[in-house]
Amino acid sequence: MESSDMKLQPELRRSDIWFDDGNLVIQAGDQLFRVYKGMLTSISPVFKDLFLVAVPSSEDPEMIDGCPVIRVPDPSDEFHSLMKVLFQWGSFPDEADSPSIITVAGILKMSQKYMAHDIRSKAYSYLEHQFPSQYNHFLERYEADTYTPFTTNCLIRVANVARETNTLVILPAVLFLLCALPMDDILKQAFESSSEGVTLLPANFIAILKGRPRLSHFARKNIYSSSFFNKEIAGCHAISRCRSLNSLWAEAAEQMDGWINPFECHILSPIQNARCSICSMKAVDEMWDGRKKMWHIMPSIFDLPGWDEMRRLSQTLDDF
Ligand SMILES: [Zn+2]
Repeated sequence: MESSDMKLQPELRRSDIWFDDGNLVIQAGDQLFRVYKGMLTSISPVFKDLFLVAVPSSEDPEMIDGCPVIRVPDPSDEFHSLMKVLFQWGSFPDEADSPSIITVAGILKMSQKYMAHDIRSKAYSYLEHQFPSQYNHFLERYEADTYTPFTTNCLIRVANVARETNTLVILPAVLFLLCALPMDDILKQAFESSSEGVTLLPANFIAILKGRPRLSHFARKNIYSSSFFNKEIAGCHAISRCRSLNSLWAEAAEQMDGWINPFECHILSPIQNARCSICSMKAVDEMWDGRKKMWHIMPSIFDLPGWDEMRRLSQTLDDF
């Protein structure tokens, strides 16, 4: 009955997930979702329990358009992501449909919270594909000509969700990409909320602050040591030319804040071609070998458990 309906507070708004024949209104943040109770209980035991205790049974329950209203404490954008999968897309979208990474991160968080197993598993696979734990997969994405950098906001959202959901296995790739941003950007995002209201979680900020110099140190020592330490390579055909080129390269590669990107291949190329064939070959071998080793120890660089342990943790979550 219209007269007994809860007054729609001005700050509340109907989301685009609103079915005129829905039988339940859920409020998350400032958004309202009119949906089907039976459908939610069929995919999530948490919704089932929630409705048992939360659906009003008093004589004068809060109602909107004749539907009982329940409130959930989730951020509206994240809850919206889950409702979108269930009620708009009908299933988790294929990569061809390119759901935004931020949306998928929201789906991962909400599907884990509401124990919607299938959806969570697909959201996790999608993010793991974008932020691989396998070295070869990471290289395929990062070194591909088609690689488009993620926005800072996107990386922060994914890093935060990975931490909040304990889906740690995607964190090394995300944290690495955050480390590769200019330090000014990192500091800005750590302390100032962006237009989307997102800041780095302290655990992720600390991981970046500690990991960035560790990555640079590893890169200097194990990936580009022939240039940084200007080693004389056995069999070099042009010792003085190769050495001066090494110095030039090291000077160009190191940024003011000491950051050395272990995956920036292009800074090596011009000088690589100018050095003698023996030095070039040694430098390239060292670079690929060092990168592989670095990937292996990447979790420890960010104070995370080992790769296998993180994969096991993700699997455990899949089994909830
Ligand atoms: Zn040489």
